[in-house]
Amino acid sequence: MTQYDLHCHSTRSDGLLSPTDVVRRAAARGVDVLALTDHDELAGLDEARVAAHECGIRLIDGCELSVTWRSTTIHVVALGIDAGHAALADGLDEVRRGRDARARRIGESLADAGIPDAFEGALAYVTSARLVSRTHFARHLIDAGHARDMKDAFRRYLTPGNPGYVAHQWPSLAQAIDWIHGAGGRAVIAHPGRYKLDAHERRALFAEFRDLGGGALEVVSSSHDPAQFAEFATLARVFGLAASCGTDFHGEGESRFDFGELPPLPAGAVSVWANW
Ligand code: AMP
Ligand code: MN
Ligand code: MN
Ligand code: MN
Repeated sequence: MTQYDLHCHSTRSDGLLSPTDVVRRAAARGVDVLALTDHDELAGLDEARVAAHECGIRLIDGCELSVTWRSTTIHVVALGIDAGHAALADGLDEVRRGRDARARRIGESLADAGIPDAFEGALAYVTSARLVSRTHFARHLIDAGHARDMKDAFRRYLTPGNPGYVAHQWPSLAQAIDWIHGAGGRAVIAHPGRYKLDAHERRALFAEFRDLGGGALEVVSSSHDPAQFAEFATLARVFGLAASCGTDFHGEGESRFDFGELPPLPAGAVSVWANW
């Protein structure tokens, strides 16, 4: 059976391995078709494509776009995009610039809470001058002794209601889907089980996503437990969306599933790759 993994990160965003090493690890662990989906960034794809060719696996050009939907941050995975498409690339350039200003504000917020120099601290963990994320703050907070591990860093800081969280306006869902479709890709709602939405809001999100031409829900993810695999497979069917799967790998030991460990889609699910 062909093994698909359609969501992961490299050092071009907040992952710990270079695009080449991400591809090599995935290939060595049995992945046949891999999408590299760095946050708001396409710069790792050229390198990943070369590595995929060398390893004999198929690379899907992807990206994970940050979106604001009704004041909630949602992630939308783009699959099969043309990375050279100007509107998408220019849009993401702008999004990454917004991340720089946001990171300064996160640093100020942490300073107000008695943790000075976190912005500079986070920059020491940044692996691409083009992109800073909360993950880099988390790694700094852990190594500086303010948090035990990633989960703790996000729980105590960096999430709504905590010092170190700053609200940020990302592109709208319509804008993100427009960029993805303009670049010839398909849009997938990443890890839908992670969002703090009630059942009604969740259905509103999926309906709006479908009406905008969105293609799939990520059903099998490191962010989901087995009950959620079944739950989101059902919801995908109800909303006429396909099902996707991805580890959301960032580095060894950081997520529930490493490459090659993803369970299959629930029986009866229509996969996002059915017509690839
Ligand atoms: P950002 O795009 O800068 O808002 O950072 C989001 C990233 O932070 C996600 O892609 C994850 O890598 C990481 N992240 C968010 N929430 C958590 C969490 N609760 N535990 C561990 N990592 C998290
Ligand atoms: Mn991430
Ligand atoms: Mn995500
Ligand atoms: Mn991700």
